[in-house]
Amino acid sequence: MDIRTYGDPTLRQQAEPVPEIDAEIRALCERMVEAMMRANGVGLAAPQIGISKRIIILDVDGAFHILINPELVETSEETEPVIEGCLSVPGVDAPVERSIRAVIKGINLQGQEVRIEGEGLLARAMQHEIDHLNGKLFLDHLGTARRQSLLKEYQRLAKETDE
Ligand code: ZN
Repeated sequence: MDIRTYGDPTLRQQAEPVPEIDAEIRALCERMVEAMMRANGVGLAAPQIGISKRIIILDVDGAFHILINPELVETSEETEPVIEGCLSVPGVDAPVERSIRAVIKGINLQGQEVRIEGEGLLARAMQHEIDHLNGKLFLDHLGTARRQSLLKEYQRLAKETDE
């Protein structure tokens, strides 16, 4: 299962809500967990494997969650810039300003409503993965000059890997 990278149109789409947790959705979650573990990620969103559905996985500091139809409920006004990268934009990273605390809710694979309060890396991963469901990448949080230089570096690296 390849992780989709920058330029793939699925990464820019508004993902669809999941109406029902069936065998297909459970199999999809399994594929997501495998893809995330293989890539050593701390989170993954379904669009990153080319599936435009509202599902995220978080695996931060021993806290593991699979969340269907997650929503941001609260974000702290207090923000901080922390270096961040993305499995879909491999090889580059940059400081991204995000809320230091966040609360999200969603449905787990058993169909129960779950509410997760996070701070630090967990809060950051929650915001980053929900961004993916809205077609947004961490690059979009950067200023124009920084984003352009990062993309240039990314394209240079991607070309080297191809050769
Ligand atoms: Zn990402």
